[in-house]
Amino acid sequence: LDTQAVLDQIRDEVRPLLSRGRVADYIPALEAVPADRFGIAVATVEGATWASGDAREPFSIQSVSKLFTLTLALRDVGERLWRRVGREPSGNPFNSLVQLEYEHGIPRNPFINAGAHVVVDALMAHRPDPLAVLIEFVRALAGNPAIAYDERVAASERDTGFRNRALANFLKAEGNLRHAVDAVLDVYFHQCAIAMSCADLARAALFLANGGRAADGARVVSAGRAKRINALMQTCGTYDAAGDIAFRIGIPAKSGVGGGIVGVVPGRLAICAWSPGLDRAGNSLAGVRALELFTARTGLSVF
Ligand code: GLN
Repeated sequence: LDTQAVLDQIRDEVRPLLSRGRVADYIPALEAVPADRFGIAVATVEGATWASGDAREPFSIQSVSKLFTLTLALRDVGERLWRRVGREPSGNPFNSLVQLEYEHGIPRNPFINAGAHVVVDALMAHRPDPLAVLIEFVRALAGNPAIAYDERVAASERDTGFRNRALANFLKAEGNLRHAVDAVLDVYFHQCAIAMSCADLARAALFLANGGRAADGARVVSAGRAKRINALMQTCGTYDAAGDIAFRIGIPAKSGVGGGIVGVVPGRLAICAWSPGLDRAGNSLAGVRALELFTARTGLSVF
């Protein structure tokens, strides 16, 4: 299999889609990103990497960051985390408020926004400086010390984060946030504002394909925990589109409104595609299509 040729062909094939998605505009700093960007990168458990298109251009990873904070929180808190956040797909948009009220402040899963707020709150209880811990963790996973928070994006989110503020206040009212709402949101807005490239993200997610071991061989989580994080990605990683994405792509995947989507083929590889234009569920239109083409062309899938 000529992986480079597969990626180059996918890059050419998705080109007509680049003008058809909608760049996220509810976070003003994201609206400025040119819609014609597309990148794709693969990192294998054997240590090989491939890339095509704008795969080295950093973008705002947004909700893909929820993978990294969840991994850190599970390491610190362990299974007790599941007393405060569920493990079921929400069937609702990632920033929906309705479910949280009738389920008494227990978010359905760690990948919707409210779930991510609880994960941050749990992390804060164990880490005096969660933002420093998080960025060091991501840098080490990706093997790139230059990865940083984009302060402009973080500020833009803070200025317009009314729904996140509503969710966090509701969690607080229900007793499911220990720390101050603004302190939790500051960490959350920063985690979303991490800037990374497709090549960085493919490498950073490799531990999930590699039984819990990072690209450099270091143990990140146990094999059992990697399996569970993958299961959550499969069922909840792309919000209310998770069923359709499982049907079309057939591997665990985590998306963000910056247009990034990371996929994991357990035992084999991690892949990241990026294109800023989104579909109605907030997933990258060309990114989803790229992963769909990749699993179809290579025959790699968990099903
Ligand atoms: N920062 C975004 C938000 O909170 C993240 C959402 C996403 O990527 N799905 O709305």
